[in-house]
Amino acid sequence: MTISKLAREIKQSPTLQLNEAAGKLRDRGEPVIHLGAGEPKSKVPMDAILSAAAKLTTADIRYTNTKGIPSLIKAIIRYTEDYYGKTIGTKNVIVSSGAKHAIYNIMVTLVDPQDEVIILAPYWVSYPEIVKMCYGVPAIVTPGDGRFVPKIKEITNVVSSHTKAIIVNSPNNPSGAVYPEELIAELVEFCEKRGIYLIMDDIYHKLVFDKKSAVSCYKYAKDNSANSKLIVVNGVSKMYAMTGFRIGWTVANEKIIEAMINVQGQNMTCPSVVLQEAAAGALNGVQSGVESLRLTLENNRNVMVNELRAFTGVKITPPDGTFYCLPDFTAYYKDSVALSKFLLEKALVVAIPGKEFGMEGHLRLSYCGTIKEITEGVARIKWALDPESPNEIYIGDRRYRRDWK
Ligand code: PMP
Repeated sequence: MTISKLAREIKQSPTLQLNEAAGKLRDRGEPVIHLGAGEPKSKVPMDAILSAAAKLTTADIRYTNTKGIPSLIKAIIRYTEDYYGKTIGTKNVIVSSGAKHAIYNIMVTLVDPQDEVIILAPYWVSYPEIVKMCYGVPAIVTPGDGRFVPKIKEITNVVSSHTKAIIVNSPNNPSGAVYPEELIAELVEFCEKRGIYLIMDDIYHKLVFDKKSAVSCYKYAKDNSANSKLIVVNGVSKMYAMTGFRIGWTVANEKIIEAMINVQGQNMTCPSVVLQEAAAGALNGVQSGVESLRLTLENNRNVMVNELRAFTGVKITPPDGTFYCLPDFTAYYKDSVALSKFLLEKALVVAIPGKEFGMEGHLRLSYCGTIKEITEGVARIKWALDPESPNEIYIGDRRYRRDWK
């Protein structure tokens, strides 16, 4: 029996790979600090728990409509109205098992073999792999200025007759950048004019700092017809700290949603009814948890940025949102995969190589953990890399000596 060419070509998620390596070290009792995590640590909202528990106690747990339960669809319609000021109907929404699953179903729905999907670097690691899983071709645009936001000209320059869609993630994983309003306006105008789909992955859109906000693509939409090219993805994973519930959704024109219902009906029937109830509970319940998570992350961001600014040789662009930053370590290591391996071995710190996000020489560091993890994590990295730092360090109650140059 042979494994398909497609499956052989799909890369293992670097985060999961590093989690495994860190898990093995932890099992041996090593005090690993995880700056690679992609999920907030705060508690799930009580309204979500109560709603899921109420469903469970009925002992009547069945399949649902493929597109999702009416109460959740209604909550998403209201959310879209409140947050985006956009009026949509039931036919414009489908619920999936997480935003990742939503994006996969969108790609299956849109992409024919050899169609190109434009991905803007730095990008979330799963985008290119999902496009490839649909036999499409990822077309990566890397900002020429070495920063984190490409210019509109750089994006339009790679558009060809094969371009089906552009995917945008702002606030951005891994850089934390919020794209300028002008760029979103230009992208909407360009995509509408050229008949290209614009997929907005808005999963972090409420986690923005310094009183900034991530602009809604709808603000600049001229085509609000049934042929609208705008597709918005969202979910409960990040803003409600509900990663384990696996609920996300897509808002798009009716034809796309109809096709996605067929795709989803054949690949998973429906998301779990218990978890859909939980998501409806979160969306309809008390919202203060979202703001308190945002405030915690803003404070953590400030600590992380200060620590990194005090680190000679490291260049840091302060993130505007999310819980990631992407400092530049090229002064120490050009190869980010080797650097990540070195830091895990020597300093027991997990950091994700920038190469995986299309930004070699950088590391993605998360600040969704505790302040202690942030300060100690950066201190250990500094100790391992900076020859000016003391030769010895205590990790837990063990003394480590730097015996490398
Ligand atoms: N998009 C981006 C940019 C993400 O970072 C993630 C999660 N890491 C997702 C989508 C997937 O979210 P979910 O947990 O809802 O599948």
